[in-house]
Amino acid sequence: MSARHAHPGGPDGNSSYEAGSRDGRPSVINGLSVDLEDWYQGLTSTNRQFDRWQDLEDRVVPATQRLLALLQAHGVRATFFVLGFVARMHPDLIERIAADGHEIALHGYGHRRVDRLTPASFRQELEEGLASLVGIVDDMPTGHRAPYFSINRRSLWALDTLAEFGFTYDASLFPTRNMLYGFPGAPRLPVRLLPMELVEFPASTVRLGPLTLPIAGGFYVRATPARWIAWSIRRLNGQGQPAILYLHPWELDPDHPMPACVTVRERITHYTGLDTVETKWRHLLESFEFAPLGTLVDAVTRTAVLSEQRTSLSVGTLR
Ligand SMILES: [Zn+2]
Repeated sequence: MSARHAHPGGPDGNSSYEAGSRDGRPSVINGLSVDLEDWYQGLTSTNRQFDRWQDLEDRVVPATQRLLALLQAHGVRATFFVLGFVARMHPDLIERIAADGHEIALHGYGHRRVDRLTPASFRQELEEGLASLVGIVDDMPTGHRAPYFSINRRSLWALDTLAEFGFTYDASLFPTRNMLYGFPGAPRLPVRLLPMELVEFPASTVRLGPLTLPIAGGFYVRATPARWIAWSIRRLNGQGQPAILYLHPWELDPDHPMPACVTVRERITHYTGLDTVETKWRHLLESFEFAPLGTLVDAVTRTAVLSEQRTSLSVGTLR
């Protein structure tokens, strides 16, 4: 199916993600995103204990300040997918992120998996999330990412809901499979989804022979060498495609707690490589061009495909 998905690129095969040149070579602008949540919202064992959140150590502000300083040091702006709960607790933090020139987008309200919500409860998540930003940012967000990349074959209806709410892009598909999430067979590259007119930025993967390997961020950056991630980004960029990457503030806070309820799986997926990740990101931020996802939407839309190909892009074919 992926072969039937047309991807951004003009008739000559070049994309319009190019940023001019870097060291004499054409460079592609990659999409950088931050899922703005605290450590206990990302952990699945504490995530589900909503009533306990208030008793867990709140570390999102210093962790995010560290991340903002890292981005500022490299002159990089990113999309911050903000959890509504965090915006309610720390409106000043969201104002600071916006004042630094980053894009504010939405990560739901209570970090709930979309594929476990009903359409009605998903709408409620969006409404509560958007309401949490009123009075903090001037413009309502146009971008969305589901917690745990949880828009997949079981929850594709959510894409229609996002378009209905006025979002212009989503970044919730992860065309891989791991213990927690994934949507094998989903489009791998940024694409305009029709008929709902939503641009989708799937988390980046690279193809190696029959394998589709995730590289986009989180565990995949923490657990692998920086040179592998850099090689993968160069490979995507060499195809005229942007890499779509993500990180979390808690990844730059290696001393955050490990409560007794943490599972063996979480010890691996959440706590691996926390001590090395900042060095890796410094290397990536120095080596590549990055911009918020919202700035890439026009490039996807402009280079979107012709009418008979439109059918193959429609979500209907994924169902
Ligand atoms: Zn998240």
